[in-house]
Amino acid sequence: MQGLMMDFPLTLQHAFNRAIRLYPRKEIVTQTDGEPHRYTYSTWGKRVYQLANALKQAGVQEGDRVATFGWNTYRHFELYYAIPCMGAVLHTLNIRLFSEQLAYIVNEAEDTIIFVDADLVPFLEQLAPQFPTVKLYVIMGEAPYATGALQPSVDYETFIADQPESYDWPTLDENAAAAMCYTSGTTGNPKGVVYSHRSAFLHAMASGLANGPALGEQDVILPIVPMFHANAWGFVHAAALFGSKVVFPGRFMDPMRIGRLMESERVTFAAGVPTIWIGLLNLLSKEHFDFSALRSIVCGGSAVPQALIEGLQQHGITIIQAWGMTETSPLASISQLRSHHLDQSQEEQFRIRARQGTVVPGVEFRVVNIETGQEVPWDDESYGELQVRGPWVARAYYKDSESAAKFADGWLRTGDVAVVDHDGIIQLVDRTKDLVKSGGEWISSVELENLLMGHPKVLEACVIGIPHPKWSERPLACVVPKPEYVDQVTKEDILDYLRPRVAKWWLPDDVVFIDAVPKTSVGKFDKKVLRSQYGMYSLPS
Ligand code: ADP
Repeated sequence: MQGLMMDFPLTLQHAFNRAIRLYPRKEIVTQTDGEPHRYTYSTWGKRVYQLANALKQAGVQEGDRVATFGWNTYRHFELYYAIPCMGAVLHTLNIRLFSEQLAYIVNEAEDTIIFVDADLVPFLEQLAPQFPTVKLYVIMGEAPYATGALQPSVDYETFIADQPESYDWPTLDENAAAAMCYTSGTTGNPKGVVYSHRSAFLHAMASGLANGPALGEQDVILPIVPMFHANAWGFVHAAALFGSKVVFPGRFMDPMRIGRLMESERVTFAAGVPTIWIGLLNLLSKEHFDFSALRSIVCGGSAVPQALIEGLQQHGITIIQAWGMTETSPLASISQLRSHHLDQSQEEQFRIRARQGTVVPGVEFRVVNIETGQEVPWDDESYGELQVRGPWVARAYYKDSESAAKFADGWLRTGDVAVVDHDGIIQLVDRTKDLVKSGGEWISSVELENLLMGHPKVLEACVIGIPHPKWSERPLACVVPKPEYVDQVTKEDILDYLRPRVAKWWLPDDVVFIDAVPKTSVGKFDKKVLRSQYGMYSLPS
């Protein structure tokens, strides 16, 4: 017997319609060089319609890929809706990718138009000769600016001017592609993840769950996580769906500007990778901000050090860890205390919050022993590869037949190694490729990094495995001291700090002090770069 409910397609058109009909007076604010740019959902909606009309006039058809190369701004937010709502596919290009990778993905996706922020033109114009499918560049900025070699090109405001302020959205299949994003390609070529309207819709709904990010109309959302990576974690979809005020940082992401923006716009909810919040925490020892409106910060993309969670809490700021991947839209698990944790000590609560948490409703997981393929018990000790499935988890990469094994048996193999406690709360031990393999046992580089970043004189720390004749690999700690402690912290200080906290054989064989941890295009620690710098490092015997 069939259910007798309406077959109502879950599309981003619904989110758009809600924003303009129910919340027309809500503000959208973008940080600029001068005064912030601000307008309402009502104005935004008219411009989204104009943009859709302009795209249609430029020949964009349903299913065509239209790319963006830009910062988090109101124009990017317009593109986030106009492109998918008219049936085309928003392809967000990562502005920090290497040129060869960019050329590869623009060609594989066969992008037809690229929208580019004016200050990023110099970077893109070098690559333009390698983009045969691109017929038009639309430049977003306050003219006059140099369009360089991007031809043909048109100014964004000119492109949408004089277009009608309404558009009859086509009826879309909820499984039609809405957007695509390539993984940052830490190994091999980047891989395209294609999101559907349905997956984006359901994923945005999950942001409203009480035990999830709990977003709602009263929120003022600051997505610092880039709109060019993994849907800005879905928070810009959620903003329109729920009618929340949204604040965009533009290209200004230094801790001082972020702090001032959060204060002046009365931000209630912000999202970004740990690096951003490590910078802000360090600033809080010198500067005062009024964060009284702030409810919580969602942080993920890499492990959130416990010291960061504790440090921000001392300033009254609650940071919530989330875990996910480009392939999971990305929100897959979130770390919230359960009711029975509330009786536990502060220290224990911080420890629980430093785990990656519980899968959100809609996502299922299992942890599988890498050798035997068996699911491991939830004993917080047995580890294996974390695998997930759900309505916003990719089932294949775009045009890729080589990675089928990654999606075998209906599960996504994440490449993350995890343990699970008896409550089903996940803790990531490491990425498979980052575990330090010492004498047949594994050492978690992530756990060492977390401990190191708890040292009062340490700003950031990264641990990599160095080849070792006897043990196969041994850990090397690369440590960035806080600016005020440069040259005032020694290898022995670091090792003395770790000694009571880890098993003896986990102790790094050496400590090197560096100026900064190299970061990937999305702000994560780039171990690849450190490995190439220290690959031949000779450890003290
Ligand atoms: P890429 O794979 O190109 O780095 P993603 O943003 O898709 O880009 O990265 C997903 C990976 O980031 C996860 O597989 C995991 O290793 C890591 N990650 C994300 N969130 C967390 C977290 N909260 N703790 C630890 N690692 C995380």
